[in-house]
Amino acid sequence: MSDIASATYPVSPRNRVKRKHERGHYDHETVHALLDAAALAHVSYVIDGQPYCTPTLFWREGTRLYWHGSSASRMLRNLADGEPACLTVTHLDAFALARSGFSSSADYRSVMAFGRARLVTDPKEKAQALHMMVDRFFPGRDATLRPATAQEVKATAVIVMEIEEASAKIRAAGVAGDPDAALPIWAERLPVHTVIGASERCPSVPPGMERPAHLAPYAEGRPLEDALREAYAAAEAAAAAG
Ligand SMILES: Cc1cc2nc3c(=O)[nH]c(=O)nc-3n(C[C@H](O)[C@H](O)[C@H](O)COP(=O)(O)OP(=O)(O)OC[C@H]3O[C@@H](n4cnc5c(N)ncnc54)[C@H](O)[C@@H]3O)c2cc1C
Repeated sequence: MSDIASATYPVSPRNRVKRKHERGHYDHETVHALLDAAALAHVSYVIDGQPYCTPTLFWREGTRLYWHGSSASRMLRNLADGEPACLTVTHLDAFALARSGFSSSADYRSVMAFGRARLVTDPKEKAQALHMMVDRFFPGRDATLRPATAQEVKATAVIVMEIEEASAKIRAAGVAGDPDAALPIWAERLPVHTVIGASERCPSVPPGMERPAHLAPYAEGRPLEDALREAYAAAEAAAAAG
């Protein structure tokens, strides 16, 4: 299994972090932890010389990244056939408000993953991917849902990209090292968090029906990335158990 802490993505001129290279990481552990803490990614690709960057939900299985959409989606139609793609995930952790615009910055964790996207055509792989599309975020939920119809499966395209190379870049310095620290100007690190909001029960849910246990990680006020990581670990354990 390639998903072990010591494994590292190969480094080439494409994914080597040159600018602030000391912030670069290539090991699976770091890259996967940042991917698993996100539900949203931006997928970049070029059609006829025009760059596009599409936001989409995504999920990871080992060293593969999956995303899905309508079979009619231009992005998915164009990425069906081994097209080069780059999937990026960004976590904004803080604004670093230094004493000059030049020294002001942000703390962040981000990943860029490179590979060739292809359409999932094998029915078994597609069924498993559509299952994971739900259970990766809400482990155990798919079994509680109305099964997909053949028409719904046909209308849904799933794209997979084996990660050929990836880089993570992490800044966690706040305003440390501000050369103007002696100036009487306000400076601070301003943390930013994405947290779960209060659940808004659908009015059509029958009275007395309890919120299912698989939503427990998504408790009001909890950091989204903690819930996503926990969900991912549970989904991975369930998949391993068969
Ligand atoms: C929330 C956030 C805010 C940022 N704000 C700024 C800003 O205001 N100004 C600024 O200059 N930069 C900012 N950055 C950093 C920016 O993403 C780039 O790293 C930086 O601009 C250097 O780009 P480059 O193409 O010259 O890097 P290079 O080092 O030349 O890129 C080479 C390779 O390094 C890897 N790499 C580069 N950047 C990243 C990254 N962020 N994550 C993962 N892999 C990476 C890629 O594989 C890339 O192909 C920000 C990053 C984040 C996540």
